[in-house]
Amino acid sequence: MTVTDARPTDSATTFDSLNPATGAVVGTFPIHTADDVTAAVERARPAATWWKELGYAGRKQRLRAWRSIIANRMEEFAELIHRENGKPVYDAIGELSLVVEHLDWASGHAKKTLGRRSVSSGLLAMNNSASLEYVPYGVVGVIGPWNYPVHTPMGSISYALAAGNAVVFKPSEYTPLIGKWLVDTFAEVVPEKPVLQLITGFGPTGAALCTSGVDKLAFTGSTATGKKVMAACAADLTPVVIECGGKDAFIVASDADLDAAAEAAVWGGLSNAGQTCAGVERVYAVASVYDEFVAKVTERAGKVRGGGDDDANYGPITMPSQIDIISRHIDDALANGGRAVVGGRESVQAPFVQPVVLVDVPETSSAITEETFGPTITIAKVRDEAEAVKLANDSVYGLGAAVFSAKKGRDIADQLSSGCVSINSAITYAMVPELPFGGVRDSGFGRIHGEDGLREFAWPKSVTSVRFNSPLKVTTFDHKPNMGQTVIRMVKARWGRGAK
Ligand code: NDP
Repeated sequence: MTVTDARPTDSATTFDSLNPATGAVVGTFPIHTADDVTAAVERARPAATWWKELGYAGRKQRLRAWRSIIANRMEEFAELIHRENGKPVYDAIGELSLVVEHLDWASGHAKKTLGRRSVSSGLLAMNNSASLEYVPYGVVGVIGPWNYPVHTPMGSISYALAAGNAVVFKPSEYTPLIGKWLVDTFAEVVPEKPVLQLITGFGPTGAALCTSGVDKLAFTGSTATGKKVMAACAADLTPVVIECGGKDAFIVASDADLDAAAEAAVWGGLSNAGQTCAGVERVYAVASVYDEFVAKVTERAGKVRGGGDDDANYGPITMPSQIDIISRHIDDALANGGRAVVGGRESVQAPFVQPVVLVDVPETSSAITEETFGPTITIAKVRDEAEAVKLANDSVYGLGAAVFSAKKGRDIADQLSSGCVSINSAITYAMVPELPFGGVRDSGFGRIHGEDGLREFAWPKSVTSVRFNSPLKVTTFDHKPNMGQTVIRMVKARWGRGAK
């Protein structure tokens, strides 16, 4: 069965969200126009002021009440996620457990991270006090993808709200009902003002949000759309945080625990049908352990199954157009000397794709160079760890990576040019609220999660205040004739020592 993109005509004012496994309509939503989006941002302005004035303690109390609602109604929400996004209920529960953990952390750490603090005023301004605080931008636009339809946008929404901003959220056209659940439950704990609003529609609605006057735009999605978002935001110098795709490498060193490595590679590559920005896509295994590792992965991956039933390990490919990309990558790998040790072209059975493990794929193949976003893994044999690092880094992407090694894990991790690395596990960094998440190069820039994630949604404000009149006043035309000599003496005494 094939679920096709049911895009409405140009004159349509609503669209249907479909269950990707069955094609059943799960909800009908407005296609918001540019005027609708601007109106939402205007409604958000006074709400942002009110929310900011609630203070850290007031916001923390509301956000923790929201956290409790999400936690207490997890089963209901997970079922809804399963219906609209297709992922198994168990996976949706895992996603929600991350969401509540991050929401709790962001609300609890906003004051310490962003609140006013004194800093040293230094030598030249020693008669001043100096303080730093982080001020919320005002209204933040959040554009999210469908693959982790709660965890991913909430990486921006939780942190932006905790920092004191109002948020206008545009979920993917594939997951508006999930977005609506979030916004509706937030309104239960913040009924006074539209601090978190939902806008729905397709790309043009997202594009309208970029130019709607928001004070910051947080985008998560593909690199191609991220570039469009950044270009649109450039017109008004609207700052952006851009979280895009990846082609994450997984290194198996000569001293790796091969059972643990195979388990992590199979889960990291196939869970969520491979539709994970930081999923395992390319494995580099050192020659001395390669054959044994491939055998272990083959055995494990052969037992994994995608499907729409309760026993399936993962669900359908959410976005119908992704099926063509997955097929193209498998074809390209096989046409250029690659071999499938699990599955093959016949594994593509839209809307499901069964696991595919490919070996001997040339590094120039699209299966290695482009984000596949499907349940496929390539495994390449490398001479040693140094070659693994070189190939892992040879990518336009740099989001996450994993290393399996008993003794060399940290050393290898230090050589990888990606935003996040997990040693002897896969994707664990995303579970740690205190660790910033994001990438380099085509994977984007800026960070969600952790203190950096809070600071992403507030601008630093630096203030000095005179405490006493200094005899050393340099910020005046009316200084004593020998002031220059005094400054020279002071600077030399303070900074001139230690020179060879
Ligand atoms: P897309 O780039 O297709 O879409 C992302 C969002 O942008 C959607 O809400 C989409 O709306 C919207 N959009 C589309 N066109 C425009 C436009 N011109 N201006 C503004 N917004 C627009 O990504 P996907 O939804 O397909 O998500 C998958 C991608 O997201 C993968 O590349 C994945 O790696 C990446 N990702 C990155 C993560 C990270 O944290 N680094 C986490 C999760 C995913 P609509 O859907 O209505 O078209």
